Amino acid sequence: MKLYEYEAKQIFEKHGLVIPKQIATIEQIEELDNLSLKFPVMVKAMVLIGGRGKAGGIKLCSNIEETRKIVEKMFAMRIHGYPVKKILLEEAVDVANEIYMSVTTDPATFDIVIVTSASGGIDIEEVARTHPEEIWKKTIKDNAKDLPEDIAEEAAEFLVEKNADFITIKEKLYKAVKSLYNTFQHVEAKICEINPLIVTKDNFVIAADAKIVLDDNSLYRQAPLLKSINIDPRSKRHDISEQTIYEEQAYRIGFPYLDLIEHPEEFVKDKDKLYVGLVPGGAGYGIFSIDEVVNIGKRYYEGKVIPINFMDSGGGPSLIKVADMFHLLMDHPATDIIITSRFGGISSCDIFIRGLIMSLRDRFMSKKRMIPVFGRMVGTDLAAARAYLEKAKRETPEPLKDLHIVIGNQKIMADVIRDGIEYGFKVKKQLEEKEVN
Ligand code: GDP
Ligand code: MN
Repeated sequence: MKLYEYEAKQIFEKHGLVIPKQIATIEQIEELDNLSLKFPVMVKAMVLIGGRGKAGGIKLCSNIEETRKIVEKMFAMRIHGYPVKKILLEEAVDVANEIYMSVTTDPATFDIVIVTSASGGIDIEEVARTHPEEIWKKTIKDNAKDLPEDIAEEAAEFLVEKNADFITIKEKLYKAVKSLYNTFQHVEAKICEINPLIVTKDNFVIAADAKIVLDDNSLYRQAPLLKSINIDPRSKRHDISEQTIYEEQAYRIGFPYLDLIEHPEEFVKDKDKLYVGLVPGGAGYGIFSIDEVVNIGKRYYEGKVIPINFMDSGGGPSLIKVADMFHLLMDHPATDIIITSRFGGISSCDIFIRGLIMSLRDRFMSKKRMIPVFGRMVGTDLAAARAYLEKAKRETPEPLKDLHIVIGNQKIMADVIRDGIEYGFKVKKQLEEKEVN
């Protein structure tokens, strides 16, 4: 579970780190009127994603008019796709230097890793790539409860080496590393990060940003912690991490979606492989479909069949939502073929087929990319679905010529998946031959 910056800061403060004075978190611009602000203030968008500064989600304001303008603008903003529902106002601090400091778990070995750099404030991955010598990194074995003093000392020493001015605050840097490590262990975090840890002109060391990701597996032990930052321990907070543009799009429309291939926006397809998009009926069917696509690929096509996504419409999706699900996969540059399934009682087959046909007709009219769809449906409103499909095929044969839906139980889903894959390879081959001639 990711915590908001203001929550993470409160936790850091309890463990001895210095944080900027928080004035308030607001959810509406009107709340500004009830606050007594001491300028300059930092206005910070509370979204569970990094890189807010560059996106305009972090602003320094020097009077109330400016603050009002910035707050209004920020509430209307989306930061990397996420709406800004909460804004933190805090007293700004005077920056002399920015340090990076983090404690994380190495996912491969489960060892703890401490990283610090005197080049903070900016993208640390970028620093690691271009100036690896600017980064100090240490692995702590055996999940040591306390950070050994010599290691904290080494970290502070490294920072002083990089910036001689830090000699006067060496003790504070030492304490900051210790506190960050203590927080990490005490709250059983996966990540504790401060970027930047600001050194002010009058030599205070202040956590100006804060990131804590808690380990969901240990949350049941952390009820007091959650209560201390006003989170109901029984509630679940949706975790947002870096998303692809398709995941963002699905999130906005309102259904679970995951890309199974990395960086689909700039994905380079292997021309020997067939990429299968899936619109399943329910999460379980989604998982089955992914497995079965891989299974058939392994058995009959030398492993050259790749499922590209997981999605779940949820019970009873609307016509528009169904259409949007198909649009998403047909816009997706990786998709060669789509396999869909409906099974069961909650969702109407009739609405589903109407949504699917609507998306195909729309795309045909606006000359967008069309992709063959294979599928089977059984369940509620089956007769109406069959009647609608037959009528639609008679009325508009062109946009629906590559729609292959079995309505009823005459075929098992595994065979439909196999048919779809076979057809996909056939179409692929035809296209290649066309290109050669
Ligand atoms: P991020 O972009 O999402 O990581 O947001 P940060 O909270 O790290 O803010 C981005 C940048 O704003 C920081 O790197 C600092 O340079 C600057 N910043 C943050 N807090 C303060 C502050 O209190 N005073 C000043 N002057 N700058 C700040
Ligand atoms: Mn930051």
